[in-house]
Amino acid sequence: MVQIKTPEQIAKMREAGLVVAAIHAATREAAVPGATTKDLDEVARKVIADHGAKSNFLGYGGFPATICTSVNEVVVHGIPDEKTVLKDGDIISIDAGAIVDGWHGDAAYTAFVGTGHAPELIELSRVTEESMWAGIAAMRVGGRLVDISKAIESYIKRQPRPAVGDHSLGKYGIVEDYGGHGIGTEMHMDPHLLNYVSRKRGKGPKLVPGLCLAIEPMVSLGTPHTEVLADDWTVVSTDGTWSSHWEHSVALTEEGPLVLTAVDGGKAKLAELGVTAAPDPLA
Ligand code: MG
Repeated sequence: MVQIKTPEQIAKMREAGLVVAAIHAATREAAVPGATTKDLDEVARKVIADHGAKSNFLGYGGFPATICTSVNEVVVHGIPDEKTVLKDGDIISIDAGAIVDGWHGDAAYTAFVGTGHAPELIELSRVTEESMWAGIAAMRVGGRLVDISKAIESYIKRQPRPAVGDHSLGKYGIVEDYGGHGIGTEMHMDPHLLNYVSRKRGKGPKLVPGLCLAIEPMVSLGTPHTEVLADDWTVVSTDGTWSSHWEHSVALTEEGPLVLTAVDGGKAKLAELGVTAAPDPLA
């Protein structure tokens, strides 16, 4: 069952989305060499409290923190701790969420710690972010879920990957073990959104006004395969290559997509892609 939201409910989800955007802004500022991932969790915790919101990550399936901090070869679900000290040259993906009046927001970004990152890392993050936007731009009334998967996958596959070490084949690894999802009164709801096209899965549900999705490609410089570490959370690439994760929560409306977790509702970026974002219900 796919949960369809009313415009009033989408306005509530926009409130939650803006809390997530505030967590992103604050953690981005704090993700500097010398900071621990635990420090970033404290920053996120404070933003949520300051907004009178609740954390949807804390306690989710026993998860012990308010954000996921995934450094370098960690793909997703890294647990903030005191011993992970960020160093110049690291990349970190921060996944954050918040609940306002029972409605959830969920979004992630990849940040560069310090300076001097290799061009292939900068390109990895750019390709992952742009593939997310390609997916968001494909969220059109009358379309099907597979249109989003296809837009993400085909964007990534069109990008020549810079040669890195042994991996000179020029292919990015599109992580298949995790994907996007419906979002609303729970963080993870139907439908599951693949970041690639699977003939087995068919076209998926129709894209209708009121559908809300978290769109979240995860891409590595090498393998698409992942494994979970002994802590039962941390997901790493099986070949140790570094990866990027970008995510936004998006509501589809009669007037187009509204990017709930982007400060401008996705307006500027979608305009570049020839798509008009829906007006912000809170503006
Ligand atoms: Mg998500």
